[in-house]
Amino acid sequence: MYRTHTCGELRLAHQGQSVTLAGWVHRRRDLGGMTFVDLRDRFGRTQLSFNDLSDAEVVAMARSLGREYVVQATGVVVERENKNAQLLTGDIEMKVTSLTILSTSQTPPFTIEDQTDGGEDLRMKYRYLDIRRAPVRENLLLRNKINLLVRNFLSARDFVDVETPFLIKSTPEGARDFVVPSRMNAGQFYALPQSPQTFKQLLMVAGMDRYYQIVRCFRDEDLRADRQPEFTQIDCEMAFVEQEDILQTFEELVRHIIGEVHGVILGPFPRMTYAESMRLYGNDKPDIRFGMTFVELTDSVKGCGFPVFDSAELVVGIKAEGCAHYTRKQLDALTEYVKRPQLGMSGLIWVRWDEQGTPASSVNKFFDEQTLRAWAEKWAAGPGDLVLIVAGAEGKTRKALSELRLHLAEELGLRNPKEFAPLWVLDFPLLEWNEEAHRWFAMHHPFTSPKPEDISLLESNPGAVRANAYDIVLNGNEIGGGSIRIHDRTVQERMFSLLGFTPEEALEQFGFLLRAFEYGAPPHGGIAFGFDRLVALMGGDEVIRDYIAFPKNNSGRDVMIDAPSAIAKTQLDELSLKIHE
Ligand code: ASP
Repeated sequence: MYRTHTCGELRLAHQGQSVTLAGWVHRRRDLGGMTFVDLRDRFGRTQLSFNDLSDAEVVAMARSLGREYVVQATGVVVERENKNAQLLTGDIEMKVTSLTILSTSQTPPFTIEDQTDGGEDLRMKYRYLDIRRAPVRENLLLRNKINLLVRNFLSARDFVDVETPFLIKSTPEGARDFVVPSRMNAGQFYALPQSPQTFKQLLMVAGMDRYYQIVRCFRDEDLRADRQPEFTQIDCEMAFVEQEDILQTFEELVRHIIGEVHGVILGPFPRMTYAESMRLYGNDKPDIRFGMTFVELTDSVKGCGFPVFDSAELVVGIKAEGCAHYTRKQLDALTEYVKRPQLGMSGLIWVRWDEQGTPASSVNKFFDEQTLRAWAEKWAAGPGDLVLIVAGAEGKTRKALSELRLHLAEELGLRNPKEFAPLWVLDFPLLEWNEEAHRWFAMHHPFTSPKPEDISLLESNPGAVRANAYDIVLNGNEIGGGSIRIHDRTVQERMFSLLGFTPEEALEQFGFLLRAFEYGAPPHGGIAFGFDRLVALMGGDEVIRDYIAFPKNNSGRDVMIDAPSAIAKTQLDELSLKIHE
């Protein structure tokens, strides 16, 4: 037996017992006649002690131990003289009687501590050492915990886990596919699923009624800090449901997770339409932990002689409560923030009200005190408040103010990761116009059903058709999204035709689904959660990388195994592939 206990287990109650532990040498200290070793495993750390009275060979071996050696130690549990309240095992230590080195170790390239000196690249290259550090290990344990919570919750509600294939068919709709060449079918390719969407719908046609899967999905997109080319979804589908059934089931799931992980019991989640969210927050995933909602000035300032406002499609601002004291330098920094190329605004206008409620602004030349007092009412701004306004083309202006709002909230400490403010965003448009491709695209995906009352607009005014689609948003992050699906072949064909498919193309790419709809398809709908992001948010982070055991870097590379990589000529030949030099 390698061990009788783990390194996180021993307490005063074990005093006097002879025990065996196995683990990694976290630290060694030689103090005069004493040697101490902190032994670490997944469960914790225990102090081993050796003194001159111990067996001389054992002491000599203890003094030879390097960091990260793997050892097995047997000894007696004794009460510590200097207790360590930081450690669960801090009341005791083990007086070692015998010691075995199971594995030696080179000096690790970075310290195995909560705060390591290792940079991102080095940590990823030696990820197995990085995972030995408590913060990364805790993240993976949290991930496992939430995985089990989800499984138990769904399984108790009759959802069944059904695996769907990874080698599927490439379709042009959606993001870019990762493709896999087929050796047995020269010149042909599988695609890795961007999501199991059509399969889960087919499972509903198949009568499985309630499906879920915690499943890997693949999208070949340009990477950002919070994206990975392969990521995990909690993918769900239900038959015989309306939107309301889905909202209730999955609101309950999120409430359950937050309750179990943080002990916070949330009430009913607020709901907001997409249109309202865009108007009040400038985006479709609002952070509602704080207010600062948008107020539009466009109509009231038209023709007032201030060229920036007169030429703008949208004039819109937010109130920063109690921020009238912002210095010139702070205001300049905010102006620079919206002028960055990513946001591209030409400037930022500010108005502030001093303690007496007298307004001053960066546009004093154009707007008199009376006008500024009228603006105060729109924002319910009072003494000490500051209002920041941007103006320009509609989409760009909304986006800039939305980013400024988050930036300011961050500065003001209004984005507490331990506070949870979920909401549903509903009634998304079914389609969005793409200028470059000069055609409509499905905003969610082509299988999302239009709201029945809007179906008549499909051909006459496609842009006005709303979808039975919903997103669940947590603290400014979209954590899940889904829709009620089309389950009628004719409607699905109309949809494909709107998206620019010829009937032949639709049949070639999605014939299997259209055909299935002719064999008794139940009404159905579902949702998928981004599991990595959900776990990261539960861990108080927005970056998902440290919640994935072996993630890719920003160029989509695994720097540990060095992938992707070239393959041998013989392999290429077998796959009938040629690399163009
Ligand atoms: N398959 C969709 C997605 O990956 C989610 C859904 O509609 O259920 O976004």
